[in-house]
Amino acid sequence: MTKKDRLIYLPLGGAGEIGMNCYVFGYGPEGAERLIVVDLGVTFPNMDETPGVDLIMPDITWLAENSSRVEAIFITHAHEDHVGALGHLWPRIKAPVYARPFTAAIATLKMEEQGQPLDVIRVVKPRPEVVQAGPFRVQFVPVSHSIPESASLVIDTPAGRIVHSADFKLDGTPVVGEPFDPEEWHRIAKEGKGVKVLTCDSTNVFSPHPGRSEASLAKPLSELIAAQRGMVVATTFASNIARLKTLAEAGRDAGRSICLLGRAMKRMITAAVETGILTDFPPIIQPEEAVDVPRQSLMLIVTGSQGERRAASAQLARGKYLGLEMKEGDTFLFSSKTIPGNERDVIRVMNAYSEMGVDVIDDRGGLYHVSGHANRPDLEAVHELLRPKILLPMHGEHRHLREHCQIGLAKGISAELAVNGTMVDLTGDEPDVVEYVEAGRTYLDGSVLIGAMDGVVRDRIRMALNGHVLVTVILDEDDQPLGEAWVETMGLAERARSGAPVAEAVERELNEFLDSAGDRVLKDDDKVEEAIRKIVRQVAVEEIGKKPEVTVVTSRLVAE
Ligand SMILES: [Zn+2]
Repeated sequence: MTKKDRLIYLPLGGAGEIGMNCYVFGYGPEGAERLIVVDLGVTFPNMDETPGVDLIMPDITWLAENSSRVEAIFITHAHEDHVGALGHLWPRIKAPVYARPFTAAIATLKMEEQGQPLDVIRVVKPRPEVVQAGPFRVQFVPVSHSIPESASLVIDTPAGRIVHSADFKLDGTPVVGEPFDPEEWHRIAKEGKGVKVLTCDSTNVFSPHPGRSEASLAKPLSELIAAQRGMVVATTFASNIARLKTLAEAGRDAGRSICLLGRAMKRMITAAVETGILTDFPPIIQPEEAVDVPRQSLMLIVTGSQGERRAASAQLARGKYLGLEMKEGDTFLFSSKTIPGNERDVIRVMNAYSEMGVDVIDDRGGLYHVSGHANRPDLEAVHELLRPKILLPMHGEHRHLREHCQIGLAKGISAELAVNGTMVDLTGDEPDVVEYVEAGRTYLDGSVLIGAMDGVVRDRIRMALNGHVLVTVILDEDDQPLGEAWVETMGLAERARSGAPVAEAVERELNEFLDSAGDRVLKDDDKVEEAIRKIVRQVAVEEIGKKPEVTVVTSRLVAE
């Protein structure tokens, strides 16, 4: 008997966290649905949970195993948490990639960096252009966000229409890019049988007031910059082209020359100019020229709004950078919000400037920054506009998704809290959870992709927390110790409270053990190593109060 066709939704990243977005939709016979993927993003590591890791991306094992069923990959916009994993994960899916021009330009860079083919990237125009991907007909709908060309997707399937909001806000005057167009959304809701499913951004569900427009920042920023006497340095997200423009215009209007610092910022501006979305950016000067401009006539716009160690803001906080230097009486402006988790890094930079006598100004509760995401009343407005039968909150931590569900349910919309790995059947009038798929995290560690559960980072954390002891013993042909045990410690205090060297105390105990151990133990590498590990830990606890990780190297001389 042939199985009935069904429509499924499966988030693999982004539902249960803010970051590494990856959503899968499928249509067809159960277990053989044709699939499309929306976004392949990254999230960023931190010292506490993922020390030494370079990037974090979704575990797409399920998708890779079903890659022959994937018709297409759609990228909604060029933020790292939506496109950052494309170059790394594409080889495991190998499907054509669809995006609007600016997004496609950034996607191309991501593919290029990883040596992947570029001709798989297809540039798409907004609705009414349609991408036919197996049983899916997909249209890009321009929405305002904090990067140009963000797009919602209208996904038509034989089981009904899905609107995937992607990241959006309701901004009628976004400075760069298209405004949010309620009439277009009204049409989307009215066509055919209307909207069956809305998968919707949940980031700002706890913000109670309607979001403000990007254009509202021009006046306060102009006034702020015009009032400064020394050099002005401003930072924001490199991809926020509208903000870069607003900042640069405010600087120009205050009679300042504008200089951009930071690789990411130049890349974004170049992509925006080349794709035609940025046409009238104020003239910029190079750092070599900026050095000769009087401080009161200079404004730098720099990368590093999150305090990233290698970005321009942190470099300037440490001293001279490209010949430029902050001094007493200068002003540093964060036209940005600190992403939760980055507070310490940002505060470190703020204090470094403070020590230089630089005035540090943050977003002042929204005076110098607006969010790129829809707030609660805006989300409700979109629910009203689209009137979906089913609401699937996404792009949020668990608490965001839960709150968003409750808003939907209160209005009589069937809402389902589907976190990463939850496969939901959307064929009927109610969402139906049908399966759980393994959906964890993949780490880029150096140049290698590893699983979060592989133990690599767990070992690294254990070594970092506990320190490490290396023990070398040599046993002769008769399984007798040859010479004494040799101990080296790493990441541990060298001397005990008594002042005695720790390594020597460990060696003493080990030699006593080796001298007295019986043949039964000395013949067996496992027994030797286990005993040594135990002794090392015991001595370390007694001497310095630490239980280190221990590596034992047992070398045996073999009789000729
Ligand atoms: Zn975004």
